[in-house]
Amino acid sequence: MANIGFIGLGNMGVPMALNLMGSGHDVRGYDVSPDARDAADQKGIALALGNADAVSNADIVVLMLPNGSIVDTVASEVLPAMIKGALLIDCSTIDVATARQLHANADAAGILCLDAPVSGGVVGAEAGTLTFMVGGSEAAFAMGDPLFGIMGSRGVHCGEGGAGQAAKICNNMLLGISMIGACEAFSLASKLGLSQSALFDVVSTSSGSCWSVNTYCPVPDVGPQSPADNDYQPGFAASLMLKDLDLSQQAADDVGAPTPLGRHATDLYKAMVDAGHAGTDFSGIIKYLETQTRKGQA
Ligand code: NAD
Repeated sequence: MANIGFIGLGNMGVPMALNLMGSGHDVRGYDVSPDARDAADQKGIALALGNADAVSNADIVVLMLPNGSIVDTVASEVLPAMIKGALLIDCSTIDVATARQLHANADAAGILCLDAPVSGGVVGAEAGTLTFMVGGSEAAFAMGDPLFGIMGSRGVHCGEGGAGQAAKICNNMLLGISMIGACEAFSLASKLGLSQSALFDVVSTSSGSCWSVNTYCPVPDVGPQSPADNDYQPGFAASLMLKDLDLSQQAADDVGAPTPLGRHATDLYKAMVDAGHAGTDFSGIIKYLETQTRKGQA
């Protein structure tokens, strides 16, 4: 069993840390927020005195933090405090450039490193069914892989440092685009007098089928249970979708990749968030789209 330092005990971090503890690992956690520390303490997570203290005795350190600049700051605290040859796994969703810099900084400090953002959200973190998209060396992946099977279903080794973040933003850019497409199809069907369950029955077994329709249908009482059946409570909040779409556009700018639908999806989710729906599930964009007039084309 490993000594694990866990930094970032928020919505995702707490259940991930609890799953590691549940499989017998020795976890010491830290979060800069006193409220988050109290909540973690009440769940039985052993707390360190600070970020450096959480990692000083750790074989493996897991980060689950809000964004790239915070990961960069925390890494500057923890890398010098870690045992040489230990492994740093950053599970936060961050930009590819900062992830690559993290790998370089870890390498210079004699620390193995993986970028390992997740798909699955809080429900997946609690159930231990997350998928990890992983970038880093074979040696680092071999060391971290057993933890992915505990905190989630599996880790997919996508390539060298930064490849996990690249996979995550490509996946989520496609998800944002496909959800908007699904919403447009169901809204149009409704205006054409076609029942939404009839459209589901056709699309879900036809060439338009996709996860956004088959598993996460954006209209109530159609298809499997989804946030649409719960007044669009997340699920996956629009603000988090916007974060990932912004990261996709930042990466596309960096490498000169044309992503016109990715750009448009980003603009639409920004408009949804700016209209006060940051905490609504991202499939709730169907409600926002229905407020738009055709002439404006949003
Ligand atoms: P969260 O805000 O609930 O948790 C992040 C925690 O990091 C907070 O408790 C915060 O206090 C702590 N933190 C911030 N700065 C710190 C510092 N300097 N030192 C120590 N702790 C610090 O966020 P979350 O929902 O748990 O998401 C974490 C990451 O996972 C994000 O990158 C997010 O994009 C990604 N993610 C979230 C979901 C989701 O559904 N929530 C799904 C997939 C990916």
